[in-house]
Amino acid sequence: MSTHDDLFHRAQSVLPGGVSSPVRAFKSVGGTPRYVERGAGAELYGVDGETWIDFCLAWGPMILGHAHPQVVAAVQKAAADGLAFGTVTRAEIELGERILAAFPRHDRVRLMVSGSEAVMTALRLARGKTGRDKVLKFSGCYHGCADGMLVRSGSGLVSFGIGDSAGVPKATAADTVVVPLGDVAALDEAFRLHGDTLAAAIIEGVPANNGLLLQPTAFLHRLQAHCRHHGALFILDEVITGFRFGYHGFDRVAGLEPDLHTLGKIVGGGMPVAAVVGPAAVLDQLSPRGSVYQAGTMGGNPVALAAGNATLAILATGEPYHRLEELGAAFDSLPKGGVSWQRFGPIVWPWFADGPIPTSDVGLDPAAKPAYSTVYQAWLAAGVYMPPSAFEVGFLSAAHTPAHLERLVSVAAAAHAGR
Ligand SMILES: *Cc1c(COP(=O)(O)O)cnc(C)c1O
Repeated sequence: MSTHDDLFHRAQSVLPGGVSSPVRAFKSVGGTPRYVERGAGAELYGVDGETWIDFCLAWGPMILGHAHPQVVAAVQKAAADGLAFGTVTRAEIELGERILAAFPRHDRVRLMVSGSEAVMTALRLARGKTGRDKVLKFSGCYHGCADGMLVRSGSGLVSFGIGDSAGVPKATAADTVVVPLGDVAALDEAFRLHGDTLAAAIIEGVPANNGLLLQPTAFLHRLQAHCRHHGALFILDEVITGFRFGYHGFDRVAGLEPDLHTLGKIVGGGMPVAAVVGPAAVLDQLSPRGSVYQAGTMGGNPVALAAGNATLAILATGEPYHRLEELGAAFDSLPKGGVSWQRFGPIVWPWFADGPIPTSDVGLDPAAKPAYSTVYQAWLAAGVYMPPSAFEVGFLSAAHTPAHLERLVSVAAAAHAGR
């Protein structure tokens, strides 16, 4: 028995499924989740003395790698000054300004704790603003665990093959209109039927919670045009994409003009920070200015914001993005064996089934799952930590080297070929 087995055994009698978030349980790849003691740069260190090159990166926040010295120093200083005050601090103004510098079309930011909460708040704002109840989402997009978004979502739900979550009120689910990604006819039809009752449409500009299901820019623009025409708010869920491709959102990459952006992951630098970004005309509807309620004991927590501020300050230099571009080019030039890799910026996803790489959840061949599990065990043995699910993406960080990428890709090629 490894220490991992011992700990996971003990965990099962305390935590449901032994975990604090479902995909961590390794159910979709098999075996025991690996207990991590420490991370530094691109590496994770396991409780049995293992070292893994980490491409999960805490599911996306650690774009600078683990334990970046400047980020850690900022957190230590903030912690020494007190962990929480429940009142206003300078740090929240600073993080707000740093975020707005990347979203020049907008002028307000509300800070909160999780991406799920940011999505929940954005949807409530849209409903408050429009007086409408329905929202449109895409099957295979994941927007966190708020009730109305657990309808044909990605992430843990896909790997477990659960279509929906139990416990979501029928009435709530009925207010969510679901459209397949990339399906222009279905999109047009959904707006024809429901456009005038929609408060908002929400999408991941680069859907990355169900594999990496890249959308044509024209599809995103068509969605935006429908929203404008029908008076629904266009919400770009940038919890993954915000600050991922440069010091900006995905709106800049695709030439979109969303009404609201939701942020999380990178903006907290590894701590629980999320945000809704938009124009004063919408965001000032939030309490205490307006009548749409949102609050949080830990909203704007100074220690969490120290990590976010330090991370964004480093990203603002542009240096990490140059590094990520170089790594992306190095990744593209590696021989991939028989594996199809999809890459968008520093997001990578291996596709182990036959046929073209899918662009909607309709194309997700379940044959990819056992193939991924086989490769996954080879990765772990060779010192590579990828997300433990065929339908989650890998992330490159500024702390990775071309040699790290070579290991990722060559182990996958060898294990897939020898399957
Ligand atoms: C991770 C994620 C969320 C949820 O954020 P949490 O902080 O896990 O609540 C929402 N939307 C997208 C696109 C995400 O990737």
